[in-house]
Amino acid sequence: MATIPIGSTIGILGGGQLGRMLALAAARLGMKTHTFCPDPDSPAFDVCTRHTLADYQDTQALAAFADAIDVATFEFENIPTETTRRVAARVPLRPGATALATSQDRIAERAFLARHHIPATRSAPIRSPADMEKAISITGLPAILKTARLGYDGKGQREVSSPEQLASAFAELGKVPAILETLVPFDSEISVIAARTPNGDQCVYEPACNSHENHILATSRVPAPLKPALREQAISITRSIARALDYCGILAVEFFVSSTPEVPPLLVNELAPRVHNSGHWTQNGCATDQFEQHIRAICNWPLGSVERLHDVTMTNLLGDDIRSVPERLTPDQFPHVYGKRDIRPGRKMGHINTIAPRTN
Ligand code: AMP
Repeated sequence: MATIPIGSTIGILGGGQLGRMLALAAARLGMKTHTFCPDPDSPAFDVCTRHTLADYQDTQALAAFADAIDVATFEFENIPTETTRRVAARVPLRPGATALATSQDRIAERAFLARHHIPATRSAPIRSPADMEKAISITGLPAILKTARLGYDGKGQREVSSPEQLASAFAELGKVPAILETLVPFDSEISVIAARTPNGDQCVYEPACNSHENHILATSRVPAPLKPALREQAISITRSIARALDYCGILAVEFFVSSTPEVPPLLVNELAPRVHNSGHWTQNGCATDQFEQHIRAICNWPLGSVERLHDVTMTNLLGDDIRSVPERLTPDQFPHVYGKRDIRPGRKMGHINTIAPRTN
């Protein structure tokens, strides 16, 4: 596979903060970026070389975009399949169609994990009310109903503890295909970020321990307080997922960690085929952060070191949190501000990485 040379243009579908930080990393490597996004207030537009403001269904704009770039990537997985298909027909799309199709749909994701014997929460698909009885017999109750597509930050999910509640949750979520999943008594949530090149070279960052508030990631900490065997297992599962997907770029794998005897100690919860909020700690914790690593991987450049240099706590700044950043920064804190014009409660406006000497 050829190396994509310095000065080439990377097309990014999606213009949010992840696209913005990808564009900043690409610029450091001497690459140009072209962002495609339908939102005129896209944070990535401020820092990319060019942008196209158009709907994902605009076939003419997509063709012109694809013809102006050397490689395409995306910053969120819920881009319409037809959009990525049109771009991929004209230019390499990395990660590719298999990874995207698998992670866009929880039913496909669970089938992939089962095929590869990767431990995941017990689950069953529900496409119509006729599937409910069988699904409950597999998962038991209580359980969580999750829409197969388009869920994020806890959206498109309902906890249910009776068949009646399941029937009304399915109706409330729009009677769309979904999975029912056993409610796991987990101790903590971790995520592991891997990078893989088109040649199959791989590296994996230190697992991070994540805490959520109102279903939104609040903090990620490294190192995660994990037993060495579990840490190794999480890394090894992540490697095997990247390999099985013939993956290219940054992949995030989220896990539940459980010490309940009847539950496996590590269960995959979700895959994200992109740079991930729980990998932002790498920006001040490693010589190569996840954004640079993604650009290197999709351009088929050698990957950079993932050695962890510090302990890090990444704290998301939501809504008004962003206002006090300049006054309260300490020397061990590194802010990353997304430049969003409108501050709204719960909106991700930036994050701060706080570093400390390595404890292990
Ligand atoms: P998800 O969108 O699948 O990442 O789920 C969002 C959050 O809901 C997770 O980070 C967990 O805190 C919680 N959650 C999701 N699935 C389960 C489950 N099967 N058991 C317990 N908690 C869950």
